[in-house]
Amino acid sequence: MTRRPKSVAIIGAGIAGLSAGCYAQMNGYSSRIYEMHTVPGGLMTAWDRRGFTIDYCIHWLFGSRPGSAMYPLWEEVGLIQGLELVYVDRFLTVECTDGRTVTFWCDLDRLEKELCSFSPADADLIKEMVGDARRLLGKDMPMDLPPREMMSLRQSAKAAAAMFPFMRPYRKWSKVSGTEVAARFKDPALAEVFRALWPPEMNFFFMIVNMARMSARSDGYPLGGSLPMARNVERRYLDLGGELRCGTRVEKVLVESGPDGDRAVGVRLADGTEERTDVVVSAADGYATIFDMLDGRYVGETFRKLFDAGTTFPALLFLGIGIEGTLDGYEPAVSGISLPFTEPLVAGSATKDRMTLHPYTHDPRMAPDGKTVMTAMIEADPDYWCGLREGDRGRYRAEKQRVADVVVAELDRRWPGLAERVEMLDVATPATTVRYTGNWKGSFEGWLATPEYSSGELPKTLPGLAGFYMAGQWVAPGGGLPPGVMTARQVQQLICKADGVEFRTSVPEG
Ligand SMILES: Cc1cc2nc3c(=O)[nH]c(=O)nc-3n(C[C@H](O)[C@H](O)[C@H](O)COP(=O)(O)OP(=O)(O)OC[C@H]3O[C@@H](n4cnc5c(N)ncnc54)[C@H](O)[C@@H]3O)c2cc1C
Repeated sequence: MTRRPKSVAIIGAGIAGLSAGCYAQMNGYSSRIYEMHTVPGGLMTAWDRRGFTIDYCIHWLFGSRPGSAMYPLWEEVGLIQGLELVYVDRFLTVECTDGRTVTFWCDLDRLEKELCSFSPADADLIKEMVGDARRLLGKDMPMDLPPREMMSLRQSAKAAAAMFPFMRPYRKWSKVSGTEVAARFKDPALAEVFRALWPPEMNFFFMIVNMARMSARSDGYPLGGSLPMARNVERRYLDLGGELRCGTRVEKVLVESGPDGDRAVGVRLADGTEERTDVVVSAADGYATIFDMLDGRYVGETFRKLFDAGTTFPALLFLGIGIEGTLDGYEPAVSGISLPFTEPLVAGSATKDRMTLHPYTHDPRMAPDGKTVMTAMIEADPDYWCGLREGDRGRYRAEKQRVADVVVAELDRRWPGLAERVEMLDVATPATTVRYTGNWKGSFEGWLATPEYSSGELPKTLPGLAGFYMAGQWVAPGGGLPPGVMTARQVQQLICKADGVEFRTSVPEG
């Protein structure tokens, strides 16, 4: 008699949920993904407006180059196959408030030269950080490790050897934030540049690693943006025989108590239907999972601390702007160009003095011929925008219009006549992010890896609850697409271990 395959309910069809589904199917489990939105992808998404594509996610795809440690994992979930990647020379251009402009080049030699000539008084610090990044050129961290609790001695030794080159820069830079590093510069404009590079609360080790990776051209931009990646992983999951139910919100994780303790036994959907399964994986928002779906009964010390005092990536005002013609003088950069506002933009408790503009001049697929699309990102106060949308829809719309007017006026100041060429203007707020993805405080990438919380690995299970696992950006500080796949893979390794079966992976045939 053949045993029925064990069933897995997966909550959320972002990169983590789709990947969890792929790995469950690869290992002979029968999985079903419940996604509250009408389309899969989660934050890895884009939307069309008047022929322009507004991409909400991808700036750079970590490990997109064949041979990099992440590449085999992208292949396993089918994300990378068929993508065309481009590698641009600039990481970010920053316009400072004193009117000077500096380019943060991907190439480390060019970067060092640019920064040293921008501020010769800061040459020592510039050379120190670029030197540390240079030592990491071509070095890669292992991406296919099992969760810490499953690692054999041999695997730990192998991981330690691969991590060895990172140890010195880690010790030196992981305990300082971008803000603290910026404060060390003598030239205030250079401090401004370093605060604009990255959320400045992030620990600076990430920036050092990023500088090395950009210089080595390890991480490229996939033409067509986020949607082709989401579709690729969705296709891979369906080809593996998984079932995807969009438009289906999970309200609760069902738990039963027995002599061996509590166990997750299924999910209750928004329409009241209860579906029983052997295993439940949440790849949805961490806060909603722990405090709403499980009523806060299994938080544990680590997550309690994080939800009390951890720092999240900020919520965003996210504008899509489509114009007739080109953006003269703009040179493509991985993260675009950071521009100061003439007057600070105040909305709720947030006072912001700059925005990051990301024109897609390096991707002709994003706009109709002869036109240009760009996005503008501004950090925002989630409570203000969510409260406004709930409480006063008219004021919410008026506020969105005010932000759009400010942004277009700023662009028009730099590219005179641009305002007349605007054909499409779309404003998404933190309330949009919460509505479509459920992410806590509208955060765009989960936990920030700050100097206080820089440990790479978080638990994938909750204390006192068997048969339940978590994957995605809320169990991997630093967030992003790679941890979506890595944590999903680790969750399946834990599931296989609990069932005493060997963990397997496969790559779709070409
Ligand atoms: C502006 C921006 C730029 C970014 N740039 C990059 C980049 O360049 N490179 C990079 O690697 N990453 C980038 N990221 C981050 C990356 O997009 C995210 O970290 C990643 O997509 C998170 O994936 P996830 O699956 O963990 O979570 P999510 O994408 O949030 O997926 C969670 C899913 O769960 C669903 N869900 C929630 N609650 C429920 C429920 N109750 N029932 C059913 N379904 C539910 C949601 O609808 C969602 O689809 C960027 C993100 C943003 C917003």
